[in-house]
Amino acid sequence: MNTKDKGFATKLVHAGDQPDAFGSAVTPIYQTSTFSFKSAAHGADLFAGKAAGYIYTRVANPTLKALEDKLAELENGFGAVVLASGMAAVTTAYIALLKQGDHMISSSAVYGPSRAVMESIFADFGVESTFVDTSRIENIVEAIQPQTKMLYLETPANPTMELTDLAAACQVAKANNIITVVDNTFSSPYLQKPLDLGADVVLHSLTKFINGHADVVGGALVAKEEELYKRLHKTMVLMGGNMDPHQAYMVSRGVKTLSLRVDKAQESAGKIALWLEKHPQISWVNYPGLASFPQRELALRQMRGFGTMMSFGVKGGLEAGITLMNNVTLALLAVSLGGVETLIQHPASMTHAGISPAARQEAGITDDMVRFSVGIEDVDDIIADLDQALAKVAEFNKLAVN
Ligand SMILES: *Cc1c(COP(=O)(O)O)cnc(C)c1O
Repeated sequence: MNTKDKGFATKLVHAGDQPDAFGSAVTPIYQTSTFSFKSAAHGADLFAGKAAGYIYTRVANPTLKALEDKLAELENGFGAVVLASGMAAVTTAYIALLKQGDHMISSSAVYGPSRAVMESIFADFGVESTFVDTSRIENIVEAIQPQTKMLYLETPANPTMELTDLAAACQVAKANNIITVVDNTFSSPYLQKPLDLGADVVLHSLTKFINGHADVVGGALVAKEEELYKRLHKTMVLMGGNMDPHQAYMVSRGVKTLSLRVDKAQESAGKIALWLEKHPQISWVNYPGLASFPQRELALRQMRGFGTMMSFGVKGGLEAGITLMNNVTLALLAVSLGGVETLIQHPASMTHAGISPAARQEAGITDDMVRFSVGIEDVDDIIADLDQALAKVAEFNKLAVN
């Protein structure tokens, strides 16, 4: 079905489907590692690119192609590659687009492993990097060196929700012949389309919103232009970080309801953020939809909605945060985000407990910070759960004062 000029929800359902001899309603799982040739000449033509078809699953496979074509259409790109994980997408982008002696500028608040792999393994291979607060464009301008080849952005940032102006940042990069890669995991293509704002490559952890059901790990890269797509595809094939057909089938199924899921969770997130902001045990709430959010204007300009992620401060600091974690009964205590289930996380006592308080401070992780990923449960149930757990926090704070 040609969905090129159709709406986003139609693309979610139909884009990329690979027709087969049986009229299958969905692209089946082609769980095969290799594909047979009709003749020696046919094999030669496939290898020479003179015939359309499949050779070997690490190179291409119809189930992977269905997902790749769908993601490329959703992000308004030329082509996509799907990979074993979001981190496989990150490392494939680094390897494909950087070489020894090159320099990369990145948001300091990027996903932790995206920074860790650059500062350890890629540094060992001679790639240099500078991490800056990209919410201020002048920081990007100042960090540019003659050998800067990549600008790597993530917006909204996790867990501060700080935004980077994508159009302005991409413009600076373009003027300096720098490729811009945007990790769009936090927004999904439903809420934000970086390629339309000037980015060259979009990256996704499909594990989050796109699959949406907390049952698959996966990643993707979408390139705006053919030349970049070819570099990414070649690197993926040579490095071997490809996705498995079964995994791709699961993601293709999960993504169909992306807009329904995000609409529902986002409506709840707006209500929850307002409710939290008025709660006596809460000292601050970071949610782009709130009037108090400093970059609300920018969110309105570059995002279709305010999303389903927020962070907030619980009065009483570290111990109060732990009390909240130990008393919620509906929200799952878990990392990850963007699934149908509501997740809660206290970075200071969980994901970032292993690093020093000083390093936490530098990363903007305060002891009172709680990260919240709103799911599609009934909003009244989510609020009631927070309400009873925050009552326990109030009790704890009263005891702590006395
Ligand atoms: C989870 C995540 C990743 C890494 O993806 P995996 O699928 O876990 O490998 C990268 N970027 C962001 C923003 C993420 O949330």
